[in-house]
Amino acid sequence: MPPGRRDPAADPVIPPGPSQVDLHTHTTRSDGVLAPAVLAAEAAAAGVRLLAIADHDSLAAPRELLAAGAALLPEDLALLPAVEINSVARGIPDLADGELHILGLGVDPDDEPFEAVLAIQRERRRARFTAMIERLASTGTPVEAELERLDLDAIEAYGRPTLARALVAAGHASSVPDAFARLVGRDAPAYVPREGIGPTEAIAAIRAAGGLAVLAHFAAAPARPGLVRALVEAGLGGLEVYYRSFDRATVEALAELAAELRLAATGGTDFHGDHETYAQAHAALWIPPGVGRSVCRAIGQPALADGLTAERRG
Ligand SMILES: [Zn+2]
Ligand SMILES: [Zn+2]
Repeated sequence: MPPGRRDPAADPVIPPGPSQVDLHTHTTRSDGVLAPAVLAAEAAAAGVRLLAIADHDSLAAPRELLAAGAALLPEDLALLPAVEINSVARGIPDLADGELHILGLGVDPDDEPFEAVLAIQRERRRARFTAMIERLASTGTPVEAELERLDLDAIEAYGRPTLARALVAAGHASSVPDAFARLVGRDAPAYVPREGIGPTEAIAAIRAAGGLAVLAHFAAAPARPGLVRALVEAGLGGLEVYYRSFDRATVEALAELAAELRLAATGGTDFHGDHETYAQAHAALWIPPGVGRSVCRAIGQPALADGLTAERRG
C-alpha cells in the first residue's frame, strides 16, 4: 500500500476526460493480474496512447511486447519500458513498510548492468516469497495447493499480492487487503522483511540505465522536503503527482513541490487488477497530456509523445 495515502472520497480528482497517459502499471510478470499484451490492449481501448509498464524489478513485459511489435502492441499505443524498485530505506523513519518506491521510466530494457541489479533483487524476492510460504504453512494458513493452480512460471518477480490472492482462494482471507492486514502485511504472522537496495542505489542504477528516477506515490513528500531534497541530490528526476488514488489537495501540493524542485511530474493508475478492471481504474485517473510530453522529453525520447493530442485550452 502506498504510504500516507488518504481516502480521496472527500476531495476527489474529477477527470475532465480520459487520460491519454498512464505511467505506472503492473502485469503478471510481477504482481499484476493481467498478461502484458492484455494490459496493453485494455489500456489502448480505454484511450491511453502512452503507457509505462513498471513491473517490480522486471523488464520482461516491455521486452516481450517490444520484441513482438505489432503482433502484441496496439498500433496507436506507445510503450515506455519502466520498472518499480521498492527500495529499503534503512534509517529513514516513518515510512510505510520502511520503503520508498522508485520508478525508473524509460530505462533501456537491454542494459546489462541494470539487468544484473534487477536479477539480484528478484533472487531476494524469491527467497522472501519462499520464506513466507513456509511461515503461512506453519501458522495454519497453507497456500501451496492454491499456488500450484496459479501460473507461477509467468512471474519473473514475486510479490506478496500473489500470496494474498492464494490466501483468498484457499479461504484463509476474504480479500487481498484482508490477507495483508491479518497474514502477510507488516508485523503480521507470516511477514518477512524485504531485503534489497536502498533509494540512492536504486536512483543511481536507474540513471545509469538511461531512465528517469521518480519517487512513487509518496503523499507525505510535501511534508518531508528535506528527504525529497536528499533524493534529488542523489539524482531523483521526477515525482509521481497524478497518482490515481490521491485526493485533489494532495495532487496540488505534490505539483507545487515538483515545480519548486524542478522535478518532472508523472502519474499513473498503479493498476494491479485485484479490485477493478483496467477501464475502471483508468476512469478515476487524470493526467494532463503535457505530463506525457515532458516525461518523454526528460528521457530524451520526445517522439514517443507524438500520439498525444494537444493540451486542452480554456
Ligand atoms: Zn509502489
Ligand atoms: Zn506500483
